[in-house]
Amino acid sequence: MIQTLAIIGVGLIGGSLALALKEKAAVSTVIGAGRSEDNLKLAQSLGIVDSWATSLADAVQDADVVVLAVPMGAYESVLQTIASALKEGAIVTDAGSTKQHALVAASQYLPEHVHFVAAHPLAGTEKSGADAAFSTLYQDHLCIITPDNTTDAQALAVVERMWQDAGAKVAHMPAAEHDKLLGAVSHLPHLAAFALVNAVNKQKTDDFDPMAYAAGGFKDFTRIASSSPEMWRDIVLANHHVLENQIDILMDELQTIRIALQAGDKDRLTALFSSAKDARDAWLAEHKKDNT
Ligand code: NAD
Repeated sequence: MIQTLAIIGVGLIGGSLALALKEKAAVSTVIGAGRSEDNLKLAQSLGIVDSWATSLADAVQDADVVVLAVPMGAYESVLQTIASALKEGAIVTDAGSTKQHALVAASQYLPEHVHFVAAHPLAGTEKSGADAAFSTLYQDHLCIITPDNTTDAQALAVVERMWQDAGAKVAHMPAAEHDKLLGAVSHLPHLAAFALVNAVNKQKTDDFDPMAYAAGGFKDFTRIASSSPEMWRDIVLANHHVLENQIDILMDELQTIRIALQAGDKDRLTALFSSAKDARDAWLAEHKKDNT
């Protein structure tokens, strides 16, 4: 059991972790910290945290484990602020969506006497804040931990156990591999969803309003465009090398479709759409995903 857990950023991700660990009785005390007093008061009233502080240093000083659940762009300032307040042997971990950035920031700012373990739960929704948190968010989802040659084995075991207690299945991989994989299957789809909504919406004029006629397909494809703009700005900036290449791959695909369309090439279009359908159907079947 973790005695004192400090969660910095009590939103969907940090709040859901606290709720899951409390439900499992895997933590004794949870202290919340963040920049919004209203959100922290709400978190306490929802039973997510036992106490809270807007001073990050106050929140972490007695913590055995500190979880960073803030947007990636806040890592440097948060780590700098908590560094001197952390106790000897404290474990700092995170839930951020890119891992090389987290490891670099931690090595830059954290003192020698604390241990950092980088982690990323592959679970989420497009909602933000403490009121979006729920205890089953991580149930049966993967949590990827990205140890490197500086990672302390005991700290790694504590973080691994924490995510298992929250319901997740834990996997390990190098941070660079994580960022490349997630760039393709998570970050690129978010960029495509943001771009698609803008592409449709900017066509709106006084007498032409396409979104007024948008239905299920548009809603399904664009759900993730309702995600936090601040959070996604930080994720894509932190993984920009991977994403510049991923955007080129997507643009090549769109260009291939455009050429086939212009040529009226029925066979080519059928082949392109069939290969996408086959790949998605196989993925759904293999991973037993609900086709909704
Ligand atoms: P969220 O907006 O719900 O929560 C973030 C919290 O951090 C908020 O309470 C906010 O007030 C606080 N915060 C922001 N800047 C801060 C700062 N400078 N100092 C202190 N507190 C600050 O966001 P979330 O969805 O919980 O995401 C948190 C992290 O988890 C991000 O790094 C994100 O990349 C990662 N993540 C998100 C998802 C997802 O689907 N939402 C999934 C996996 C990982």
